[in-house]
Amino acid sequence: MSHSASAVTTTCAYCGVGCGVRMQPQEAEFVAHGEMTHPANLGRLCVKGSSLGETLGLEGRLLQPEINGLAVSWSQALDAVADGLRAVIAQYGPQAVAFYGSGQLLTEDYYVANKLMKGFIGAGNMDTNSRLCMASAVVGYKRAFGADAVPCDYQDLEQADCVILTGSNTAWAHPVVYQRLALAKKTRPEMRIVVIDPRQTATCDIADLHLALRPGSDAALFCGALQAMAEQQHLDENFLQQHTQGLTQTLAAVESWTLAKTAAFCGLSSTELQLFYQWIADSDRLVTLYSMGINQSTSGVDKCNAIINLHLATGKIGRVGCGPFSITGQPNAMGGREVGGLANQLAAHMGFTPEEIDRVGRFWHSDNVAQTAGLTAIDLFRAIEVGQVKALWIMGTNPVVSLPDADRVRAGLSRCPLVIVSDIMRDTDTTHLAHICLPALGWGEKNGTVTNSVRCVSRQRNFLAPPGEAKADWWIISQVARRLGFGEAFNYQHPADIFREHARLSGFENQGRRAFDISGLAHLSNAQWDEMLPIQWPVNERHPQGLTRLFTDGKFYHPDGKARLIPITPRLPITHPTATYPLLMNTGRIRDQWHTMTRTGKSARLMQHLSEPFCQFHPDDCPAAQSGDLLRVSSPHGWLLLRAQPDRSQARGTLFVPMHWNSQFSQQARVDALIAAHTDPLSGQPESKHTPVRLQRW
Ligand code: SF4
Repeated sequence: MSHSASAVTTTCAYCGVGCGVRMQPQEAEFVAHGEMTHPANLGRLCVKGSSLGETLGLEGRLLQPEINGLAVSWSQALDAVADGLRAVIAQYGPQAVAFYGSGQLLTEDYYVANKLMKGFIGAGNMDTNSRLCMASAVVGYKRAFGADAVPCDYQDLEQADCVILTGSNTAWAHPVVYQRLALAKKTRPEMRIVVIDPRQTATCDIADLHLALRPGSDAALFCGALQAMAEQQHLDENFLQQHTQGLTQTLAAVESWTLAKTAAFCGLSSTELQLFYQWIADSDRLVTLYSMGINQSTSGVDKCNAIINLHLATGKIGRVGCGPFSITGQPNAMGGREVGGLANQLAAHMGFTPEEIDRVGRFWHSDNVAQTAGLTAIDLFRAIEVGQVKALWIMGTNPVVSLPDADRVRAGLSRCPLVIVSDIMRDTDTTHLAHICLPALGWGEKNGTVTNSVRCVSRQRNFLAPPGEAKADWWIISQVARRLGFGEAFNYQHPADIFREHARLSGFENQGRRAFDISGLAHLSNAQWDEMLPIQWPVNERHPQGLTRLFTDGKFYHPDGKARLIPITPRLPITHPTATYPLLMNTGRIRDQWHTMTRTGKSARLMQHLSEPFCQFHPDDCPAAQSGDLLRVSSPHGWLLLRAQPDRSQARGTLFVPMHWNSQFSQQARVDALIAAHTDPLSGQPESKHTPVRLQRW
């Protein structure tokens, strides 16, 4: 592996915290250190980040283009991709083509993929695995603020009087945020931390109060909190009057959520609920941090808005130590949201109104911009199954492991006439179904930008030479675009060319109407882009140094400048335990693995923490099983073979299974094979945390 001789500062490959990393050459290898100057982590790293150097080896890499398993040249592979797409478009139209991207892609790669599909092929069918991660949070923010804009910064967590962590095992999923919070709690023990989670997780170690609510009842809990604030006259009348709309209807919707009713519905005691409400009322500075436990739900958007309603109604937003704070799972989920990587977005926080289509078309010099939103992830794979989509290009993700109803996804893909996969790994559950495999550059080799959970745009820099024939995703996509006849619009020589164009589009006819605006970075030279320091958007004439916290002036992005409170009617998940499937399965991350383990699975150190797929359950739910026994967990969709971890802290009737394992490690451990593809009607995000299952000793 040839590489840079000096230390290189970059951004971590993994979670949405987006930590700065300094990769220090040491003999033939690189060692990761926390970057002291990066505002996300200020020198800290978690174990995954500090093991980055151990995952750089080339074993298992896809290093040459392949067609039907045979190595070919790049020109053969690119011709085959272009010919295949052209033939499908000619016979079935552009709607028969789709791209499925990833929060692992760099912003520049994402931008080019989105531009090709929505701007030139002319269909909206570019969606992303971020649909599984934060699509509900996006819709929640847009409904409330008129823009997909996270108002907070990590400092707000440290400066709050009370932090509510809901649907988030922060200690394992976002460890550096947890470290920052734990230190703040140590420094200011009077700071209160509330964890809302049906499970007792590692995050509870720093909690003053753990509300082990009934799975899926979160919206009711926050509606009850709003009702309590109204009853006890803790609403911020001035803020509400000046900066919001929708209070009357929203209060009417929560009126029935009395303390007693909410406690009964959520499976909590009135005493603990009263204490929770009291702490909300007492805390001038309140942050609610939420993640997949909120978003991955058939009522995920409503849960997000129930949280945001509470903050708007009490005026706990737009101030130091305040705000509803959605934290993303992936390193560049936010960058994907910016470029339009979700199928219901067009580009740069613009959607599919005639005005926006016209504006983006003029900017891209294309008269073939998609006229309507495309298929979201679950619908996209259903469309493949029924033959409506005939060609799919998957980039940097492994949907045969990570999508719900994963066996059905596999069966559908196996019937798709053209499957193209760009990936860094040769053998994944998804590459095995590809007709054409394109070797992409991996972390440490590719060069671009990512945006973390707090709108902070950071550079991911290359410090390794490209291995084998691997190429940057933006280059691969641009080469295909040229072969399809769109060369002029994809004539990029350097990722900075793409970044500048993306930045220009963000400011194009914006006039402060769209939250995402980095037009202040549109004139960076290549050298300035290379040296760019982390910066939080918006970055424009008004905010040339970026902005740490949004809405400090009480102005939101709806046309009248006011935020919206949204009336919420809490809904429970649509599936329930039955006599045949009496237990509820929850899923989530473990501390030392990332997604489907194709990278973290390479590190012996990371595999030490929890080396096998397992199932945590209350011993009363399977008395015959001892720790370490093999268990069969089944749902109507499939079954898994897992190691038993009886645990008395697990609520009776529920069990927990990690989301990571793929078929390379264990044939029967893809947890998504058990999960039904039920989705939120507004966000299309699947309900991944509420699956009725049966547990048996193997
Ligand atoms: Fe990387 Fe997330 Fe760990 Fe930071 S907290 S080092 S971004 S995995």
